[in-house]
Amino acid sequence: MLELKGVYTFYGNIPALRDVNLVVNEGEIVSLIGANGAGKSTTLMTICGGIKTREGSITYNGKELHTMRPNEIVKLGISQVPEGRLIFPDLTVQENLDLGAFLRNDTAEIKRDINYIFTLFPILAQRCKQAGGTLSGGEQQMLAISRALMARPKLLLLDEPSLGLAPIIIKQIFNIIQKINADGTTVFLVEQNANQALKIAHRAYVMENCRITMEDRAENLLKDDAVRKAYLGI
Ligand code: ATP
Repeated sequence: MLELKGVYTFYGNIPALRDVNLVVNEGEIVSLIGANGAGKSTTLMTICGGIKTREGSITYNGKELHTMRPNEIVKLGISQVPEGRLIFPDLTVQENLDLGAFLRNDTAEIKRDINYIFTLFPILAQRCKQAGGTLSGGEQQMLAISRALMARPKLLLLDEPSLGLAPIIIKQIFNIIQKINADGTTVFLVEQNANQALKIAHRAYVMENCRITMEDRAENLLKDDAVRKAYLGI
């Protein structure tokens, strides 16, 4: 579904991605784990068109993404949940969700998707008229995921959904990510919380110093000594 081949990205003259190769197949949850500053968010931003590649190719179902604008990429069926949620704090929960459907005009289907979201996150139905900024961190993360789902993506990209959340909320959010995947959405997940990210993924990649250094089935990486030592604190 998504393929990065020999991707190089720079911030000015400083390399941020070096020869990144990765694949996400339809139906999978694929995680990208790595330490702070490894290049995970840059990978996600590059896929979404926020940062331009200098070399290499990014294709989605065979279409070249790296020449497209971010709104064209959303129209193809790719939505991003950015690091730090970036919800609109002064708009209500409902208005944040409406903005997620900005590029759609199929009113009946939009209503159906709102109902689907409220079954995933019943708390958002209760908070519907509340300003986004008054929600707890966990609820804001739920809203950010829901807003991305309102574009009805085939591929959902998540950047560090566990950031700043209590362990019990992280577990809840990761369970929902699995449910979203089981309901038919392919997921690419960037995470520093390697333990949770590997537990829910089918396959995963490890990133160090702007490069992919390992890739395998997530269950194998969870058992790998180097991964356990470096990322799981075991
Ligand atoms: P984190 O989990 O902390 O977000 P990350 O693995 O997502 O880390 P990136 O945010 O992709 O890492 O950063 C990769 C490298 O690029 C880091 O060295 C970072 O300092 C640098 N970097 C990120 N954004 C910029 C920017 N806008 N300008 C210059 N350098 C940047």
